[in-house]
Amino acid sequence: MRTGLSLGRIFGIRVNIDWSWIFIFILVTWNLRVVFGLSHPEWSGALSWGLGVAASLLFFASVLAHELAHSLVARARGIPVRSITLFLFGGVSSIERDPESPTSEFLIAVVGPATSIILGVLLLLLAGIGLSFTAARTAITNPMQLVAQLGPVTTMLMWLGSINITLGIFNLIPGFPLDGGRVLRSILWGATNNLREATRWSSYVGRAIAWLFIVAGIAMIFGVSIPIFGTGFIGGLWLVFIGWFLNSAAIQSYQRVVINDILDDVTVERMMYRNPPTVPADTTITHLVDEYVMRADDHAFPVVDQGEFVGMVTLDDIRGVPRMQWDERLVRDIMTPVSDLVLTTPGEPADQAFNKLASRDVRQLPVMEGGQLVGLLRRSDVVRWLQLQSDFRPV
Ligand SMILES: [Zn+2]
Repeated sequence: MRTGLSLGRIFGIRVNIDWSWIFIFILVTWNLRVVFGLSHPEWSGALSWGLGVAASLLFFASVLAHELAHSLVARARGIPVRSITLFLFGGVSSIERDPESPTSEFLIAVVGPATSIILGVLLLLLAGIGLSFTAARTAITNPMQLVAQLGPVTTMLMWLGSINITLGIFNLIPGFPLDGGRVLRSILWGATNNLREATRWSSYVGRAIAWLFIVAGIAMIFGVSIPIFGTGFIGGLWLVFIGWFLNSAAIQSYQRVVINDILDDVTVERMMYRNPPTVPADTTITHLVDEYVMRADDHAFPVVDQGEFVGMVTLDDIRGVPRMQWDERLVRDIMTPVSDLVLTTPGEPADQAFNKLASRDVRQLPVMEGGQLVGLLRRSDVVRWLQLQSDFRPV
């Protein structure tokens, strides 16, 4: 689970900041202070720094506006949105499930970049007003000289306007899972009526673009000049980093779609491990190791106390206890109590249960029915089910 800071709610949607944002904030502020200092050496240090901080905060608000646009359209199309998290590469809206129609997907995806670009154009128009006033006042026509004469507010508006347009255009790159990739997927989905094929192809395009970024980045590191991006070690490294991130995001989001698609019409009951061996809560660890762990392939054992399911004990729990204490310590002392476990039921759709396994980072879910333990759903059970599907192959 990502850690971060909660800022409260907007329109009922929780807004979180990932810690990586503090890094971005410092980087943007410092970079702007340098830029402002160079273009306006006459400004005091305090003015340049203050302007840098203000511009960073407004940049943050712009990214939030982009994400809010996605979230509000998703909600209007009947998809619940839990939270928005701002992290290193921008923002992520935690939209609970994929849209049900290509039209919904198109609208949800396209509104984010559209918001950024419209916002950018508006900010540049405002900056243009400031610019024309300065031009009229100073009678300077050379654009470079004119920029040097601009006041602090106009300078900041120009930066914010162009950064928002850049943000909008970057997100329109047609590589899934970027917004542009989602737009591409919705178009392919609408044309073929096959979500999985549409995802496969937009993921291929995403990976191809990611590799272009990586190759261009490496070329930049070795001194080649790339249009728009220029050249240089740091810029090249950034491009490689972004490419690598896009590539793994494309692979992961495609696999998730395929897995959810395969698990879509199955329930937990179908693939769960029935009647796993259970361990009494007052067993010593020595006994647990000799009689259960060494005699089975299982990594985790349900613990029972007077016939009632009270927790789970795993190999990791045993590893945490020094050998000398194995004769004295009991299973109930080292187990994870049932109140701390993530549970499932036989009737739960398998894709939901799989999302629990993945997002909570656990290896198995106890399957409960009427207060009784009826089985375990282990990662290996889901993997085996997936292997039975001929159309499941890793990209
Ligand atoms: Zn977006």
